[in-house]
Amino acid sequence: MPDKYDVVVIGAGPAGYVAAIRAAQLGLSTACVEQWLDAKGKVRLGGTCLNVGCIPSKALLDSSYKFAEARDHLAVHGITVKDPGIDVPAMLERKDKIVDQLTGGIAGLFKHNGVTAISGTGKVLSGARVEVTDKDGKVQVIGAGNIIIAAGSVPVNIPPAPVDNKYIIDSTGALELTEVPRRLGVIGAGVIGLELGSVWGRLGSEVVMLEALDDFLPMMDAQVAKEAARIYKQQGLDIRLGTRVTGAEVKDGAVVVTYSSAGGEKVETFDRLIVAVGRKPRSQELFASDSGLTLDERGYIFVNDYCETEAPHVFAVGDVVRGPMLAHKGSEEGIMVAERIAGKKAQMNYDCIPSVIYTHPEVAAVGRTEQDLKADGVPYKAGVFPFAASGRALASNDAQGLVKILAHAENDRILGCHIVGPSAADLVQQVVIAMEFGSSAEDLALTVFGHPTLSEAVHEAALAVDGHAIHIANKKKRS
Ligand code: FAD
Ligand code: NAD
Repeated sequence: MPDKYDVVVIGAGPAGYVAAIRAAQLGLSTACVEQWLDAKGKVRLGGTCLNVGCIPSKALLDSSYKFAEARDHLAVHGITVKDPGIDVPAMLERKDKIVDQLTGGIAGLFKHNGVTAISGTGKVLSGARVEVTDKDGKVQVIGAGNIIIAAGSVPVNIPPAPVDNKYIIDSTGALELTEVPRRLGVIGAGVIGLELGSVWGRLGSEVVMLEALDDFLPMMDAQVAKEAARIYKQQGLDIRLGTRVTGAEVKDGAVVVTYSSAGGEKVETFDRLIVAVGRKPRSQELFASDSGLTLDERGYIFVNDYCETEAPHVFAVGDVVRGPMLAHKGSEEGIMVAERIAGKKAQMNYDCIPSVIYTHPEVAAVGRTEQDLKADGVPYKAGVFPFAASGRALASNDAQGLVKILAHAENDRILGCHIVGPSAADLVQQVVIAMEFGSSAEDLALTVFGHPTLSEAVHEAALAVDGHAIHIANKKKRS
């Protein structure tokens, strides 16, 4: 192994492995240091996203939705399924196989592109050097023309509900339950709470979610959050807002949770409790004190818009730096940094990052919300189209939700899109592309959409911005 590389990446999650592959594609000698080990003690690539995040959660969301469809949604199509059953270990096995396939795939891509994977824990030293400690405690120092830190994030713990990995679990434990809990408590009605609460709720758990805030999904457009809350309630998720958990104690094989809310002190007993109250950057013990790196007030590695840290030739990307904790945000930052190291003029558009909650229906968003625009005094127009008026959504008996497009009132430029509905994750991407190209709502309205598709709801929402929607009664005056 050489003792110096053009680029050394610390962390092989979606931010780090993508940065490493792009750097190698650009002809830079590249190594990626990763501390995660598989059961055989070999380096495991893919980070949180592939191992315990995006991919395994979506595998279980899809399996559990297929079960819910068979149980609840097929009769309307004239299909009879008698007593569909669940084999949880088989579901977990399928999920694990997908994870293995994808993490192994990253190893293959590293090989193909000439990225050296180094097993161990990396630490940034002064003078663009990386210290790597392997699992046996052996230390080596590697020289680096440039360092890209992509160390990711870890779940936040709260003192009243310490995770014991048996009864009180975090998101990783919630992906490994070998049987369906009869009563499942979830602290935090955010993205993880809603996705993993949905998985186990669909499989039969009675799910109670305890959320500290009074508002549900405050980062989402308020109209979409309200519609999503209505649908989740219909699905049986018991979401209790404005609650403060004061204790969680394991007693006789169950978790007794105490919390306070406007109604006073309450006690609930659950078979399992998921703690999903956010994630924090993994920025401790990552750099020597004389490395020149600093943390911001929330513990993120301080970077500018180009992901440059305060130390020359040291960059940081992904969950370990400011911005939404999303796999695709980290990957794009990784590509930007690799390209800038190679002398290209790459930059990120932080205004155009989609986010999705993969419940059913999905909730997806890009850009500004209506409440943001109001608060900032930006003149805007809104176009809303309900899936109840979409032929394709009705044909598949999946017609809950709406598409909302927000455009500037004066220049018509699209400022945001918010969707709750079938395939929202894929639909919002159409508007992400439009926004990336600086499109107006009229540009989308003038585009030909295939019929019958769910995408037509995006088209109709764009038409509705100026009161031209065809398949609903427009509220606005036509121009
Ligand atoms: P990570 O994926 O956390 O990877 C960091 C890597 O660095 C890890 O492998 C770690 O072992 C390694 N590392 C850390 N420190 C060191 C060190 N000192 N030396 C060597 N290696 C080190 N995001 C989405 O966009 N879509 C989703 O659907 C989605 N679903 C999620 C579901 C769950 C349950 C969870 C928990 C997260 C989900 N996320 C999702 C978030 C997503 O997983 C993260 O945003 C993403 O993984 C961050 O990528 P990263 O590369 O910055 O960090
Ligand atoms: P989150 O920020 O989405 O939700 C956490 C929720 O917990 C918030 O609503 C918060 O108000 C609440 N909360 C905080 N402290 C609490 C307390 N003491 N008691 C009760 N409620 C409390 O965080 P998450 O769901 O843990 O997810 C972590 C990160 O992972 C997110 O930033 C998210 O972007 C990412 N993620 C993304 C996806 C996706 O893209 N589909 C899926 C899962 C996770």
